Amino acid sequence: MTKPNILVIEDEEKIARVLELELRFEGYEVEKALDGLEGLEKVREGSWDLILLDVMLPEMSGVDVLRRIRSGDDATKVIMLTAKDALDDKVSALDLGANDYITKPFQMEELLARVRAALRSQKPKEEEDVLQVADLKVNEATHEVHRGTASITLTATEFSLLVSFMKNERHVLDRQQLLDLVWGYDYYGDSNIVDVYVRYLRNKIDKGYDPQLIHTVRGVGYVLKDPR
Ligand code: CA
Repeated sequence: MTKPNILVIEDEEKIARVLELELRFEGYEVEKALDGLEGLEKVREGSWDLILLDVMLPEMSGVDVLRRIRSGDDATKVIMLTAKDALDDKVSALDLGANDYITKPFQMEELLARVRAALRSQKPKEEEDVLQVADLKVNEATHEVHRGTASITLTATEFSLLVSFMKNERHVLDRQQLLDLVWGYDYYGDSNIVDVYVRYLRNKIDKGYDPQLIHTVRGVGYVLKDPR
């Protein structure tokens, strides 16, 4: 995995230098800019995972830099560094699309925690919604199901059953639990419907593939797991 790269736009050289050292120590790539114009240039030249942007900067203020960044389609994460109690700065920074702000003077630990949080939340939405067991992948957002590279089409009920299994990976689910999860508590029909749908699902996600992922636990119910 490549290191996340962070641009620090900060005119106080001492603070910029400490940030650079601490962030490098944490394993990030770091570049500095010492005024707003230089900062904006670097924003445009590079591809950044995160920008730490001071509000009070020579040449161009941090708020103006942020405004320029957001005036295009640039959704790069930005954490603003604001002076103590400068409420207007914070409000306008968030209004203009900063993702977070930190008040100076800040504790390095807090800053690093905010940096980690900002970088975590940058994970693409699709990745967050993907459930995976062995080579079976289920995207909850798009309803796409893959076994290896093969795309599998499921009905809504089959999909819901599969998601219930995936979210309870390695936990044996009995018929009643599956009925509740998939058909809802107000279902009064025959619980054999569970067996019927598990069979449909197996035909689609297990038949012809290795390893088998849905297992029958005699007298209890079913479990989805990678047996290896
Ligand atoms: Ca400053």
